[in-house]
Amino acid sequence: MDKGFSTTLIHSGEGRFTHATSLTTPIFETTSYVFENADAIRQYNEGKSRNFLYSRYENPTVMSAEAKVAAADGAERALLFGSGMAASTTLLMAMLNAGDEVVCSAAVYGGTFHLLNDFLPRFGVVPRFVSLEELACPERLITDRTRLFWFESPINPHLRCVDVRRIATACRARRVVSVIDNTFASPINQRPLEMGVDLSMQSASKYLNGHSDVTAGVVSGPDELIEPVNLARRKLGGILDPQAAYALGRALKTLPLRVARHNGNAMAVASAIEGHPRVKRVYYPGLPSHPDHAIATQQMSGFGGMVCLDVDGGEAGACRVFDRLSVIKRAVSLGGTESVCSLPILTSQWGHTDEQLAAAGITKGMMRLSIGLEDPEDLIADLTQALG
Ligand SMILES: *Cc1c(COP(=O)(O)O)cnc(C)c1O
Repeated sequence: MDKGFSTTLIHSGEGRFTHATSLTTPIFETTSYVFENADAIRQYNEGKSRNFLYSRYENPTVMSAEAKVAAADGAERALLFGSGMAASTTLLMAMLNAGDEVVCSAAVYGGTFHLLNDFLPRFGVVPRFVSLEELACPERLITDRTRLFWFESPINPHLRCVDVRRIATACRARRVVSVIDNTFASPINQRPLEMGVDLSMQSASKYLNGHSDVTAGVVSGPDELIEPVNLARRKLGGILDPQAAYALGRALKTLPLRVARHNGNAMAVASAIEGHPRVKRVYYPGLPSHPDHAIATQQMSGFGGMVCLDVDGGEAGACRVFDRLSVIKRAVSLGGTESVCSLPILTSQWGHTDEQLAAAGITKGMMRLSIGLEDPEDLIADLTQALG
């Protein structure tokens, strides 16, 4: 040992395996990267080098998972974040200036609503929330101040769908940036970028990862729009951690298989439960009885794993069935291998008045199901016994 004990332990073994071309991308568990000399750093600064500088800017494991998400979305480029909300926040901070107006569906993920309603007005951004009826004529919603148009389809919890192509076209005509939250559909069932939407945002915590064990988010789209989001991410610091990126990259390999099974299981459950005497209504875009079945059929290649039931007896009725579930777990979130159920009145619509519930088309008897990858007969049997 020609150096001290600590020096030897810190430096021995490091940087030895650059020739190991592993079959999978390892977890680059490093904050920083080594340069040969000053010129190599200069080359990096000028964008002429393939080296890395700092993992808040970029990390090979994260970039590997980003390449998979971009491929899934049919996008030029995708960026990963520490959560869906970090993705949305960074996207909006990158795109908006004080005085800009954002048109946003009133029926939108709660976190997105609070970001646009409570936070961004403090920076001079003006949100305008619009109803599902208004979204049917998106051309009328855009003003000279509108910079960005944010919407979802299908929408939580009743899985109402809006005309994605029509919104995209209206935005293109007025040079407004359109953004869809495509979390519920996943790119396997719905391909918004190919329908003309500018940017696709998703909570990768849901179907993309699909195992209920990673919190992550993604924004994907063309280079020209993704680069400003990348510059914002470098400053705001919301990039995904390499461990989580590894797990997500691994899970993405089975995304088509998983989503196909979610689609099949959800259709089986929705069809079996529709018509049950204790169920007033089943909301599933794949059922002809769904109010948006026609548009869903046009713009989706599968109808997803989310099913919503409106059961007899209002809140008490829904709670009774909920408490009797056994295979299906009482939990929020969605898109995992295990089926879960949540009650909108206790989660997304907690504290809402009767008028607010009515305006959102949500009843006290609604149960939201994320149908997992179990055997469908077991899920149907569990719901049937819980309904009594
Ligand atoms: C979960 C979810 C989000 C937020 O994602 P996080 O990963 O929880 O931050 C956004 N939109 C939709 C539709 C979601 O379901």
